[in-house]
Amino acid sequence: MHSPVAARVSECPIGSLLIIDDSSVQRAHTVGICRSLGVGMIYEAGSGAQAIELIGSLVAPPALIIVDLEMPEMDGIELIYQLKQRQYMAPLIVASGREPALIQAVEAAAHNLGFRVLGGMQKPVDPGALSRAFARAGQGEVIVEADTPKVPEVEISADLLARAVAAGMVGVHYQPKVDMRTGIVRGVEALARWTRPGLDAVAPDRFIPLAEREGLIYPLTLSVMDQALAQAAEWNARGLRLSMAINLSPGLLDHRSLVDEVLALVARHDVQPNQVVLEITETSAVACWGAALGVLARLRLKGFGLSIDDYGTGFSSMQQLSRIPFTELKIDRSFVRGVHQRGNLRVILQSALDMARQLDLVTVAEGIETIEDWRLLQECGCSTGQGYFIGRPMPAGEFPQWLKRHQGVLHTLRWAARRSPA
Ligand code: C2E
Ligand code: CA
Ligand code: CA
Repeated sequence: MHSPVAARVSECPIGSLLIIDDSSVQRAHTVGICRSLGVGMIYEAGSGAQAIELIGSLVAPPALIIVDLEMPEMDGIELIYQLKQRQYMAPLIVASGREPALIQAVEAAAHNLGFRVLGGMQKPVDPGALSRAFARAGQGEVIVEADTPKVPEVEISADLLARAVAAGMVGVHYQPKVDMRTGIVRGVEALARWTRPGLDAVAPDRFIPLAEREGLIYPLTLSVMDQALAQAAEWNARGLRLSMAINLSPGLLDHRSLVDEVLALVARHDVQPNQVVLEITETSAVACWGAALGVLARLRLKGFGLSIDDYGTGFSSMQQLSRIPFTELKIDRSFVRGVHQRGNLRVILQSALDMARQLDLVTVAEGIETIEDWRLLQECGCSTGQGYFIGRPMPAGEFPQWLKRHQGVLHTLRWAARRSPA
């Protein structure tokens, strides 16, 4: 069953892959296509158990895995969990005879587990679909080799975080937000980064929840805001006026002093409130009542923009959200990633965009990773885009270089309306 097939065609970005399918006919079909696409080394397994045994026995595990869903004993979903448990994090393609909604659910689950998912497709596998998924492997994120040793995660504690905030070691990276018609940069989102000398930066997903639990989110946010506003002022002085988006945790809105502190900061840096957008997640907006609602209303009254972040993850009704004077709707990346090949996502996306337009809200799509998704969002009329396809979060020092590179690709991003037949 473990039959490596050697055939090299230089343009194929896939050096080796593993096809897991209990049907030998389907496997042979997929092997044939992979061979014609020039994959170097093709491994096969007829079950999940066989796949795990095979991967464990290889010196260099496969760079990509194509997994079937319906298999006796261990199904494809269980297999994906097992791969995660063993840290075999090769990029995945999900191929199944089942309905697209199910395939998409598995793709999303694998993505949430940390896998890079190159695509989902119906069986029998189609050469075009497979070759497009392969092409994705060569774009954007570098493929994490399955045998990359895991860096052990360093313990973090409330005490360490408190000291880091006080010492100004929680810095800020900036991710561009661009106009989807022209590609021109309109603003940036400030994203916190805990940097430690000689060690990897800690991602915010690890320390923001800690800061929220341990009462550190207030000083942390004020520090992020201070740095972000200083940066905005510096860019203003150079003629680059960018809107600055800053994330607000729900607990902050219970501090009545927040509005005055924020006003003092914008005044100190000589930045107008209307240049600042405060992002509040949909989930926290729904739970926002009483004093917290008063804080948001005051911020809006002073001229700050208010954005509903991660829209689509909170099951809110428009009635609930309309209590808050939002100016922007930011569609969660789970509705954006891969939207060009997911009909049902497109429906949800389009209705959110239509609703936002009627409410006169700026629309932002976050998590745009490919040109295909960029084009589709343009067609849907989304006003602003953000994502790795445009630019990753970066230190302010790298922004001028990014801007220069970005100017060079503007013409490819521009919206070219389809010419209507005469
Ligand atoms: P968020 O507000 O939804 O921020 C967007 C996140 O998506 C960022 O992750 C960004 O790096 C990531 N992202 C952007 N484009 C793409 C893309 O194309 N693909 C993918 N896969 N991801 C993309 P990051 O910087 O790790 O931040 C994670 C979360 O941490 C943020 O999610 C936000 O909720 C929170 N956070 C970050 N900074 C702050 C802060 O200063 N205060 C508070 N309260 N929360 C913060
Ligand atoms: Ca955000
Ligand atoms: Ca978000």
